[in-house]
Amino acid sequence: MSNGFTIEEPRTLEEALELLGQGDETVRVVAGGTGLTPLMRYGFFQPTTLVSLRHLAPELGGVEATADGGLRLGAMNTLRDLEDSPEVAARAPLLRQALYRLATIRLRNIAQLGGAIAHGHPQMDLPPILLALDARVRVRGRRGSRWINADDLFLGYYETAVSDDELITEVVLPPPGEQRAVYRKVTPRTADDWPILGVAAVARRDGGRVSEARVAVGALTDRPQRLPVAEAALVETDPTPEQLRSIAEETADSLDYHHGPAGSVAFQRQIVAVHLRRAFDAVVLGRGGQGQGER
Ligand SMILES: Cc1cc2nc3c(=O)[nH]c(=O)nc-3n(C[C@H](O)[C@H](O)[C@H](O)COP(=O)(O)OP(=O)(O)OC[C@H]3O[C@@H](n4cnc5c(N)ncnc54)[C@H](O)[C@@H]3O)c2cc1C
Repeated sequence: MSNGFTIEEPRTLEEALELLGQGDETVRVVAGGTGLTPLMRYGFFQPTTLVSLRHLAPELGGVEATADGGLRLGAMNTLRDLEDSPEVAARAPLLRQALYRLATIRLRNIAQLGGAIAHGHPQMDLPPILLALDARVRVRGRRGSRWINADDLFLGYYETAVSDDELITEVVLPPPGEQRAVYRKVTPRTADDWPILGVAAVARRDGGRVSEARVAVGALTDRPQRLPVAEAALVETDPTPEQLRSIAEETADSLDYHHGPAGSVAFQRQIVAVHLRRAFDAVVLGRGGQGQGER
């Protein structure tokens, strides 16, 4: 026992799930600890037991291509592992380029993919990217495993669809195909700061027309959200830059904003319109490249 809590270090996934499955909310899994320890330090969460996953890295690690050309990412990869992975570079360059600007390299050396998802903080970079990439997340509990689509994963402020007695084990991304993808991160201070807006967009064109579009924003509200207004307006069109600007403006008008640390409602609406337009220019017209962002 240290600082009022015990640290358990199970040797197998089954042991870890047994520890988490006792119905005690004060028993919590810890991965890199970068999200959890500030909450403990400021008294928002007081665990009785932390379940460290450190012996499970071989079981919950790895980055591999899937049979259909997609990508499987083990939950215990550090963010740095993913940034350095040639498979991620080849099959999910959007993810790799977003990672370069996710906090600092010191944090990325420690924080793990599972923690970056389960943390559920609204101002995180990966959630809108997972939505735009149509990711699926596998979780394991004592009664077996289930898949959660990224669309159904993020429920609110520090709240995800992963139960306290479940562990995220892996993330699977579908094959990228001939798509363009971009992530635009807007930060208040330095480039690697927490985002006040993250725009992730993926689009595919067939015969000149946009055949598929997935657009998501993060950091605006308590959870990341897909933007159906934008997606519907983009698909089955061959839009001009002016039309893309209109779609960005209309989409920005369709969202709810709240005055807060990110700025006034007018400011937030403006940065959404600007960064949606730039994201559309990148994925629909091929202007601006992948994974770019700016302050
Ligand atoms: C200074 C600082 C700057 C930051 N800047 C950014 C930023 O710019 N962009 C950004 O996106 N994020 C940022 N973050 C947040 C950071 O990304 C998260 O703290 C980190 O991803 C959490 O990962 P972790 O492995 O440390 O998780 P932990 O802190 O270990 O855990 C976080 C939560 O996830 C749960 N958990 C962990 N692993 C699993 C698993 N496999 N299955 C189920 N539940 C699990 C834990 O129980 C806990 O509830 C920042 C954090 C700090 C401290």
